[in-house]
Amino acid sequence: MSLRSRLTTAFLVVVLGPVLVGAVFVAAVMSHLADSRGEALANSAVTMVDSTLGTICERIQASAAAVALNYRNGDQENAVEMAQLLVDRAVVDGVVFSSLASVSTSPGTDIGAEAPEGSWVDCGETVAYAGSGPIVALGAQAEVQNADGSTAVFSAFREVDQAFLARLARVADADLILQDSRPTPLEVGSADAGRWDFTDSFLPLSIGTVATDVTPMYWTLAAMVTASAVCAVGLAAWLARSTTRPLAELSAAAERVAQGDLNVRVPVHGRDEVAQLAFAFNRMTAQTQSYVNALTASRDQMRGQLGRLGQTLTATLDLDRILEVILDTAMVTAGAEAGVIMLVDVDDADQLRERAGEGDLGLTEPASIRIGEGIIGSIAAGGVPAHGRIIDGRFEDRHRAPTEPDAHTIVAVPFSGRQPVEHERTGGSRSADFSGAPRTDAGVLGVLVLYNRIAGDDFEPGDVDTLKTFAGQASVAVENVLLHRHAERLSLTDPLTGLWNYRFMQTSLRREAERARRYQRPSALLAIDLDRFKTVNDTYGHPVGDQVLTELSRRITAQIREVDLAFRHGGEEFMVLLPETDAGGASVVAERLGRAVNARKFKVNDASGGRELDITVSIGVAVLGEHADTATGVLAAADEALYAAKAAGRDTWRVAAV
Ligand code: GH3
Ligand code: MG
Ligand code: MG
Repeated sequence: MSLRSRLTTAFLVVVLGPVLVGAVFVAAVMSHLADSRGEALANSAVTMVDSTLGTICERIQASAAAVALNYRNGDQENAVEMAQLLVDRAVVDGVVFSSLASVSTSPGTDIGAEAPEGSWVDCGETVAYAGSGPIVALGAQAEVQNADGSTAVFSAFREVDQAFLARLARVADADLILQDSRPTPLEVGSADAGRWDFTDSFLPLSIGTVATDVTPMYWTLAAMVTASAVCAVGLAAWLARSTTRPLAELSAAAERVAQGDLNVRVPVHGRDEVAQLAFAFNRMTAQTQSYVNALTASRDQMRGQLGRLGQTLTATLDLDRILEVILDTAMVTAGAEAGVIMLVDVDDADQLRERAGEGDLGLTEPASIRIGEGIIGSIAAGGVPAHGRIIDGRFEDRHRAPTEPDAHTIVAVPFSGRQPVEHERTGGSRSADFSGAPRTDAGVLGVLVLYNRIAGDDFEPGDVDTLKTFAGQASVAVENVLLHRHAERLSLTDPLTGLWNYRFMQTSLRREAERARRYQRPSALLAIDLDRFKTVNDTYGHPVGDQVLTELSRRITAQIREVDLAFRHGGEEFMVLLPETDAGGASVVAERLGRAVNARKFKVNDASGGRELDITVSIGVAVLGEHADTATGVLAAADEALYAAKAAGRDTWRVAAV
């Protein structure tokens, strides 16, 4: 049973129940009152008829007696006069003067109405008329003894006819039926009188009084009950609907929220408790929505960061770029204002040097700090993570170094990555692992430090855990990059001379050709070949030849810039790539190289001891963008120029023909 049905039913029971009980009670009272009133009316009508008939009879009797009294004096005239007076005054309808049948005196004179034929009822009777025949009059007799001994009888009467009954009925305000033996009794009023009573008097009268008809009242009552029932049902339905509708809306909204739709709001009707519930629901949903939005935003940001991190870690071996992204991600995750990743310096293993920095906290760029000094330096030396407040430049028992930022909260995690498998002590107190990464005594590669939480709170132990993850990635990145460099160097360099090998030359040349084409910048290539080297080999042996090659590569490296690349092309042929150099610049280098080779003798050792050899080289010069646009093109051009130099007598250089 739904809440709405329950409410409707309860309301109907509470409201309609008393109405129905009241209606039944009112109906019972009405019926009782109607009965009592009918009885009272009947009683009063009977009493009225009885007393009226009594009065009439008394008058009739008195009239007969008065006439007889006047006659007693022997004066018939007076008796007639009295009778006439009584008739005129309508006390009686008529007076009959008669003698007894046995007396033969003159019958006298009848006054008033003619004596009606039929049964007379004597007013002196005390029992109801039980004779036969129609009752036609009420009468009374008075007898007087005549002087002659005869008896004179005077009968006064009132005619009992329709008019008499009508008057009597009017006085009693009732219907009257004169019961007699006639086939059709004298009747006044309607036969449908609700109630019939009988008089106590001698005249056999049925008295009908109208019974109070309560049927219309019953109908009215029923109509009222029906109307209130209809109203109650309507009101109950409205009440139940208005109460349950907001609840239904709320439950539908809650269902949608449960399905993840946080945009849903319920309408707030009025200010009642349900309205307050709806209001609270809307606020709760809005709050949840804003939390979810914030969480989604931060999750998306985190995903973006992690995506970037993943991409960077897989796509690049640029250590600074990797550290920058790791720092970025760590800062977003912990909500820090600024941060820095410092690594043990490759050149000075006692120093930490900033490799990535974010946020403005007055750091000198790039910051560096001695291991064991200041806050970061001591954390790196200790190798244990720390977090907390910096108060007046002090963090725990450490003082801030001048190169450290002036922050109020800090979290710092040193990282060491894989511990060195084999490490050799390198002079100082510091160590380096197989990948060449410098470490502190505690085995620390570097420190990841975050400053000032954006929300204003202090950093928590949870932040340390988070940072450990990123520090781990940083250490893996450092090691990987260094390892990669190491491996790369092994695969791209020539084991005899330590110069870049043929493979790396191909790569470098292609990259340089591309760069020269894109930026329209020249790059020169020198092809260097030892003159008559076969003779050296043939005369002193291959090992001596190798020593010459090694020494030559040293002299070449010494003559070129940092950005220039020297390759062993194969055999006794070398290549030097000079970025941003045109034919003029390259000629200067070629000239200088030639002089560096033949300026001093080459010292070599063979089985018979040390020797000094005169060595010369021939050099061909070609320029990317001038003699060729491709790697193979410039190689061929440089070779051609080399041949030209050989052809020109060796120990010289030539620029390729345009
Ligand atoms: P040229 O002046 O025309 O260059 O005369 P050359 O004798 O130097 O002739 P070429 O350039 O053809 O020399 C090739 C010789 O270089 C053959 C070989 O004896 C020597 N050579 C090539 N590679 C090596 C190497 O790795 N070690 C040694 N010791 N000699 C090598
Ligand atoms: Mg050669
Ligand atoms: Mg040669």
